[in-house]
Amino acid sequence: MKRGRLEMNGRTFDVVVDGKTPDRAIVIDDLLAKTPKKTGIELDVRQGTWRAPVRPSKIVCIGRNYAAHAKELGNAVPTEPTIFLKPPSSIVGPSAPIVRPKMSALVHHEAELAVVIGKKLAHATEKEAEAAIFGFTCANDVTARDLQRADGRFTRAKGFDSFCPVGPFLVDQDQVGPIADLTVTCRVNNEVRQQGSCNAMVFPVPTALAYISSIMTLLPGDLILTGTPEGVGPLVDGDVVEVEISPIGTLRNPVVDAA
Ligand code: ZN
Repeated sequence: MKRGRLEMNGRTFDVVVDGKTPDRAIVIDDLLAKTPKKTGIELDVRQGTWRAPVRPSKIVCIGRNYAAHAKELGNAVPTEPTIFLKPPSSIVGPSAPIVRPKMSALVHHEAELAVVIGKKLAHATEKEAEAAIFGFTCANDVTARDLQRADGRFTRAKGFDSFCPVGPFLVDQDQVGPIADLTVTCRVNNEVRQQGSCNAMVFPVPTALAYISSIMTLLPGDLILTGTPEGVGPLVDGDVVEVEISPIGTLRNPVVDAA
């Protein structure tokens, strides 16, 4: 079962789709209910537009969580998690354009596994943190690399509207299997730019979640971006960038220059 948010005729519905009838979405009462109630309403997904499958109160990102990526940008591998926030306003759904702002001449893709939190988490142990994972989706932590270098901090470089594509689906934790077995792939115009095993994370997801929860309370629906493997690179007007994590799906977004 894959969960998503489908917009149709100006309304957005929480839905589930199954593998057998991917063109049919069934409207549910609550996207984050463990066992959602089906309302009986069915929608034809070909008539609608997929939106991001989450509406988090915050997006917490882990920086430099793959050693090879830290090194490719000339940074040390961190000894404790490096975290930063992206604003929820940076979220766009699958197929929505990533808009390169006029302020930047170097916009990079960062393909990442995104964790969706299922229950409130504060000062949690790693075990509690792991049990609070609702599911997973794909994300692109789009970054204006030139502004990140110029500023020495991340807010502007990571915070532009459209700099956080998310989707296409939210997949329940028990349908994904061990995080260490997942592979994150990024393609630009069908060419593989990044490919990394989640096994190579410096701080595994439960460790990172427990750490974050010792600083800020995580709420249901919050989104944690778990870091990007090596191979980050530029996006230009006209590109199509994909983040693929099997069995979660493929997030695909076109890139355009700001008008
Ligand atoms: Zn990142």
